[in-house]
Amino acid sequence: MPKSSEKDLIYKSSGDWQSGMAKNITFIVTKDCQLACKYCYLVGKNEKERMSWPVAKAAIDYILDNEDKFREQSVVWDFIGGEPFLEIELIDRICDYIKAEMFRRNHHWFDSYRFSFSTNGINYHTDKVQQFIKKNHSHLSIGITIDGTRLKHDLNRIYKGDGPERGSYDDVARNIPLWLEQFPGGGTKVTISSPDIPYINESVLHLYGLGIHEVNINCVFEDVWKEGDDKLFEDQLMQLADAIIDGGYYTDYACSFYSENIGKPLDPVTENQNWCGAGKMLSVDAAGNFYPCTRFAAYSLRSKRPIIIGNVRDGIDENKLRPFLMLDRLTQSPPQCLDCEVASGCAWCQGENYDAAATPTIFQRATAICLMHKARVRANNYYWNRLYRKLELEGEREQFESNHSEVKPDNC
Ligand code: SF4
Ligand code: SF4
Repeated sequence: MPKSSEKDLIYKSSGDWQSGMAKNITFIVTKDCQLACKYCYLVGKNEKERMSWPVAKAAIDYILDNEDKFREQSVVWDFIGGEPFLEIELIDRICDYIKAEMFRRNHHWFDSYRFSFSTNGINYHTDKVQQFIKKNHSHLSIGITIDGTRLKHDLNRIYKGDGPERGSYDDVARNIPLWLEQFPGGGTKVTISSPDIPYINESVLHLYGLGIHEVNINCVFEDVWKEGDDKLFEDQLMQLADAIIDGGYYTDYACSFYSENIGKPLDPVTENQNWCGAGKMLSVDAAGNFYPCTRFAAYSLRSKRPIIIGNVRDGIDENKLRPFLMLDRLTQSPPQCLDCEVASGCAWCQGENYDAAATPTIFQRATAICLMHKARVRANNYYWNRLYRKLELEGEREQFESNHSEVKPDNC
């Protein structure tokens, strides 16, 4: 079963707001969702594990009481599910409390914070969600996940239940105009697994057609790929490259598949950082347990035990956190990745590494994505060669380079 992390599905429409300088703190407010997406990694979704107010308050109090341990300049308070907006009343109370407490304590995060959401978009238009948005608009980042055309979206993003399969496209698409009106720079996140490959080209163009200018797209990290998928993937990306260039979309639309920074060897000394922020982030669930990322909570793991690094009563256990702070590219990559000619942009998910490892270790990199990354690099080279040739012929290269702000490769 294809799995992908909902954390991976997050598009932070804050983009890179305070990138590298913000602490990311995630509340798993519910493990329930209206949908049962086929690629969803959440093996333990249920309707019972909803966060209570006392647990949420205890987490906030611990974090704000320990300002010396949370020294990052800014903070992103992230809300995840399941579907977070199912718990909008709790979220509203949490956000009000955070704002009041940061002010009362004269905390250094006061006025340097975001509330961030990745939502399936189904409840976006409801009164309660809209009131919350109105109240907090200037500090919000909201990404709605829509996978592309109706066909592509409904392949995976179906309602849960025992009846005939029912896709959610229409219920999400009707809220896209309202979302874009409120967050004009809003981007979406598309997740690709094996059955989705034939729809990539038309789906990205469809999302552009809906008015979404930034499409962040990535392949699942799990070992779902079939023989020949890499070739199909490359073909789709080449077709999409042609469509973007011939249609002139490259001027003000972006697709994270194409990046000038991918597909190069990496220097083992200066480019040795871990791919993702697991361990530097903090997640808390309904039981009040802390995790290095939501991907280490029990409901996210297929085959391993959760890794709990503390709880709201006793705080963070630094000894349990320490291995995560040791992670870098060298400590977990196999030799072929260290010597790889196209290593830059080849991502990994720490949680999937752990889940897929032969033993319960976080120091074994999963490489199921290898052939897909190499295919992406080939298509990416084609895209930039073609684009720059066109720009040079038209005398627009300089202008493009000064305007061009690249969508960074996704790293959740
Ligand atoms: S997984 Fe494959 S493409 Fe990625 S760095 Fe390793 S060898 Fe290179
Ligand atoms: S482990 Fe890393 S890549 Fe995986 S979901 Fe967590 S932050 Fe994202």
